[in-house]
Amino acid sequence: MSTSHGVVVALASVFLLWAVYEMACALWVLRALRRRVKSVTAPPGLVGALVREGAKRREKLERRQQRLSRLMLSMRSLGRALPDGLLVLDAQLNLLWSNPQAALLLGDVVAARGQPLEFVDPKVRAWLRSDPSEALLDVESPINPEVRMNLKLVPFEKVSKLLIARDVSMTMRLTQVRRDFVANVSHELRTPLTVINGYLDTFEPDELPEYGDIFEQMRKQSRRMVQIVEDLLTLSRLDHGGGANDDDVSVAPLLAHLLEDAKGLSRGLHHIALTDSLPMDLVGNEKDLRSAFSNLVSNAVRYTPEQGRITLSWAWHEDGACFSVHDSGVGIPAQHLPRLTERFYRVSTSRSRESGGTGLGLAIVNHVLQAHQGRLEITSVIGQGSVFKCILPRARLKYRDAAL
Ligand code: ADP
Repeated sequence: MSTSHGVVVALASVFLLWAVYEMACALWVLRALRRRVKSVTAPPGLVGALVREGAKRREKLERRQQRLSRLMLSMRSLGRALPDGLLVLDAQLNLLWSNPQAALLLGDVVAARGQPLEFVDPKVRAWLRSDPSEALLDVESPINPEVRMNLKLVPFEKVSKLLIARDVSMTMRLTQVRRDFVANVSHELRTPLTVINGYLDTFEPDELPEYGDIFEQMRKQSRRMVQIVEDLLTLSRLDHGGGANDDDVSVAPLLAHLLEDAKGLSRGLHHIALTDSLPMDLVGNEKDLRSAFSNLVSNAVRYTPEQGRITLSWAWHEDGACFSVHDSGVGIPAQHLPRLTERFYRVSTSRSRESGGTGLGLAIVNHVLQAHQGRLEITSVIGQGSVFKCILPRARLKYRDAAL
């Protein structure tokens, strides 16, 4: 071996020994880091730089993991602290996670993880399967019939769903107390009002001419009070689930009756027409449907100036059938439309009172239609008139011939 070869071999050996030393130091440092020893000095050189970089990244990762687990913990305690029952479901409606309130409200319905929810109530099962956007209101809790809940299903992450069960028992109880109070007061007022009305009717204006106007006012106001009481009792009956039954309702005589009513109320001051283009009858509560439709007819006459046009029509609608009342009356400003079906809501109080309105008519119409799975749609243009549409579903229709 020449001298130059000997030098190369010696240098290579030194380099290799240095590399082995660096590796050993790096290994020692890495092990120390894994054992979470705080102050370790990385070896000098390239390997040392790599070890330092690795240690820095690891520290960063650990900090991020700690932040994430803190976040997870606070999310879980938030879920536990919420008064609503929360259930995370997968796309097939199997349970992924739930908070303790869910079990308190739903009991055994909260299945084991990965299992589907077991609602006994077919209404709730059908609602869940329909992927609903609307909440399901006033559902009886499966573990306590006294507890009433509202259920809402919201999309969560990509395919999961969040089922929220809210205990609304207290609100329902308060609503019931209010309803009972109104019903009781109305009931109690009915008898004294009937007596007062009866006595007022026995007076002849000719007998006491100087009190003629006073008696007329008293009669008018007491009739209005009777009407308010009757309307409140009707609303209370509809509130308590009374309403739709499955009687056959012949629409042709009903329309003829409404037309006659409209003409009687108008006393020849309006142009009134009827279009009956649908050979279908209805299935429902005849008295309630008649009262709802005639409320709309009476409103059209009351809110349409003389010589105005009023059209009643019975026609197809994409959801079933539609009874509509179209008038060329005073119209209603757009901001009032969403509130018209609230009890005692009036656009113009003086006009409503003058024309004998109670402010309860449209609330009754709305309730009657809801009891028949229908809905009320209102469109209006100020100064041009309004259209009130009662839309009834196909399930409530029956061919006229079939009723014969
Ligand atoms: P009211 O007994 O006061 O007429 P309703 O509940 O029937 O009570 O109607 C509520 C309000 O809606 C009325 O006070 C009136 O302002 C408005 N309204 C109802 N129908 C019509 C109509 N055809 N044209 C204009 N306004 C109407």
